Amino acid sequence: MLMQNVRVRFETSRALDAIERRLTVDPLAAGGVIDLVDAARSVDLDGGRPAALLRLGQYIDALSRRLGDGNTALYAITERGAMSDTDFTSNERMVLRRWSDDGLIEMLPPGARVNARVREVAHLTGVPVISRSPLPGHPGPVYLTTGAPGNLELTLAPATGATRTHPVLQRYWRCPASDCPVLGRPPSGGAGQAPPALPSGAPICPRHGDRLIDSGPRPPAMMLAVRINSQVRARFPVTAVRPVVVGRAPDDQQGVTIGNWLDDESSRRVSRNHLRFELRDGMLLVTDVSTNGAAILARTGPTAPPREMDLNRGEPKALGEWDEVEIYPEITVGRADRPPADAPTGSAPASVMADAPTIALRLPPPR
Ligand SMILES: [Zn+2]
Repeated sequence: MLMQNVRVRFETSRALDAIERRLTVDPLAAGGVIDLVDAARSVDLDGGRPAALLRLGQYIDALSRRLGDGNTALYAITERGAMSDTDFTSNERMVLRRWSDDGLIEMLPPGARVNARVREVAHLTGVPVISRSPLPGHPGPVYLTTGAPGNLELTLAPATGATRTHPVLQRYWRCPASDCPVLGRPPSGGAGQAPPALPSGAPICPRHGDRLIDSGPRPPAMMLAVRINSQVRARFPVTAVRPVVVGRAPDDQQGVTIGNWLDDESSRRVSRNHLRFELRDGMLLVTDVSTNGAAILARTGPTAPPREMDLNRGEPKALGEWDEVEIYPEITVGRADRPPADAPTGSAPASVMADAPTIALRLPPPR
């Protein structure tokens, strides 16, 4: 029993490490926003302990399968009460503190309404909420959890309103609290920044409640994904600062190279420089710079059937929220957080639960 406990502890910490690598408060990297404790308390998934951080892994896996993206991350939010919740093991409470201190999750003040902040983040950023029950009145997209226990699935409910860029997201913000892990300093290298909380209109730090300091203009940015046979093979941010070229082997060193993923036939059809993406006046524009052409698969929503539209070579065209650009059959580029509704085929992305001990959820928490 002792040896087994040691092994379970080892495997649990490895699985939590795998989960940790997929947590973010960068809306550009996130595929979904979630109430952390609500997810950890989904006992119905396995019939185990009342609360378990390992369950987050099931949501990350479900999101990966939904997006066909083994690198998508979860934007998890909770409040300080979780760190003294004895339904978690002492190790889990320690892990929560570490995630919070490292800025991997949003830790709200004690007793804060986590659900309201989840909706606020989703509303401001357009990243879908992951919820176990419908959210009446929420304007943005929502993933509802379905599927049998142990095999969680996320179904995208259509948005009831359009996502618009809020003026507060046109600035970088800095929290005056020293070493704020969420809004300490403006991000660099194409990363995004957690949106401020706006309880009364003025931007404040969601963690500290302090009024935020304006740190200058933030160029609009959007995360795009190259999907090959429904699997995301590349993710890249497009900002208003410079366009990005996608192709077999773009001349621009900072272009997105997809040559490694192509077979002989598609290699012949995909140009070295195939598509150019840029953000202009908040609009995503695509230009066909290829030899063999490309088409737009226009969709009005996640479940709408695609309508094929021609793309004239050298002529920039605006892309809608759910549109994709088809380079070649089964090779498309679109928004990373707006996957087409047809379920991904092909091999499923690697699971973060690979190392998780199945027994861990059933053991009583050690006191
Ligand atoms: Zn702060």
